Amino acid sequence: MVDVVLHPGRDRAVRRRHPWLLSGAVDRLEGTAEPGAWCRVLSAEGEVLAYGHLSPESRIRVRLLCFGKELPAPGFLEERIEAAVARRSAVGLIGETDAVRLVNAEGDGLPGLIVDRYADLVVVKLGSAGMAMRREKVAAALRRATGAAAGFERADTVSARREGVPVHEGVLWGSLPESPVTIREGSRRYLVDFRGGQKTGFYLDQRDARDWVARVASGRRVLDLFSYTGGFAVAAAAGAAAELTLVESSAVALDLARRNLAANAPGFPAHFERTDAFEFLRRESGPYDLMIVDPPPLARRRHDVTRASRAHKDLLMFALRRAAPGALILAFTCSHPIGPDLFRKIAFGAALDAGRSARVLHTLGAPSDHPVSIDHPEGHYLSGLLLQT
Ligand code: SAH
Repeated sequence: MVDVVLHPGRDRAVRRRHPWLLSGAVDRLEGTAEPGAWCRVLSAEGEVLAYGHLSPESRIRVRLLCFGKELPAPGFLEERIEAAVARRSAVGLIGETDAVRLVNAEGDGLPGLIVDRYADLVVVKLGSAGMAMRREKVAAALRRATGAAAGFERADTVSARREGVPVHEGVLWGSLPESPVTIREGSRRYLVDFRGGQKTGFYLDQRDARDWVARVASGRRVLDLFSYTGGFAVAAAAGAAAELTLVESSAVALDLARRNLAANAPGFPAHFERTDAFEFLRRESGPYDLMIVDPPPLARRRHDVTRASRAHKDLLMFALRRAAPGALILAFTCSHPIGPDLFRKIAFGAALDAGRSARVLHTLGAPSDHPVSIDHPEGHYLSGLLLQT
């Protein structure tokens, strides 16, 4: 096994059990190893601190999987995967659905591994050299732990480039169903395009917020901005909304939204606007009584925060101007660098600029199948507010 020796004084993060060892902390590698191989991490003084998977090309040089002196036991990875799957079956934790995130990377002690279950299909993303190199092992463990009929690996081009591994996509086991597959969430049904859709096909992380929308939608004129395949719109229709407007730039996503709505609420009065959501809000429209504002990540890194904050504030300011008195607004950021505190400040700034008063009724975030490790605060990315004007 290759040894990764740290610079003097650069062992603090590892001792705090942070799962990322950054390249700047590494003094030298002793030995040679393939990308993704197990490696042992030592302090400058030679103390063994942790074990992880090596990513020679990435700024995150090692994904740490276990801490302390003891070698990871054979079958270590399989056990972690089994444990992650088992955690989801705790009664009452996730609710009535057959669509669940089974492995949430660092949040489940498995950096580089994302696994979502859609009915009888398991969709996997391998985001590190270590996980890509263990494709067969990961697939076998998931097949055993879930009993699912089929497994599919979605390509992750961004990670593959960063990690210096070939882009890969294909069947992991079983025979794949046609895409899209149908999932259920309480009384709602959704089509999920696991081959071409965003993420692994569906925004599982907004499940709790969809329940909120269903609960408060009754009789309201609803605007679903950045609707994707209509996750929120279907929830609003199920909650007896009065009418719906969906705004989304992707024609493919909007088409699936149309099909989702037709399947759940045939004949529901809905407008589908394939356009830029920022532009749409600037135009005169509304008023609306319930608005969902769920943009894509606007800040990926710290230095994007100022620009992204301004974009979030603009969106919310225009949303507030289109809001009827007493309207509810569910606003989200899915950018880790914009945490819940900053997002609340942005929302209050937007209200001030819009000349509207607003109150926070509730804070929202990713549900319990998206655990965040306390050792890895970067794993928290989704912050939401339920505002009332
Ligand atoms: N609310 C959705 C997820 C939204 S993800 C759900 O719960 O399923 C963000 C969506 O915004 C993506 O579908 C993306 O295609 C779309 N999008 C990105 N930029 C956009 C823009 N400027 N105007 C409209 N839609 C945009």
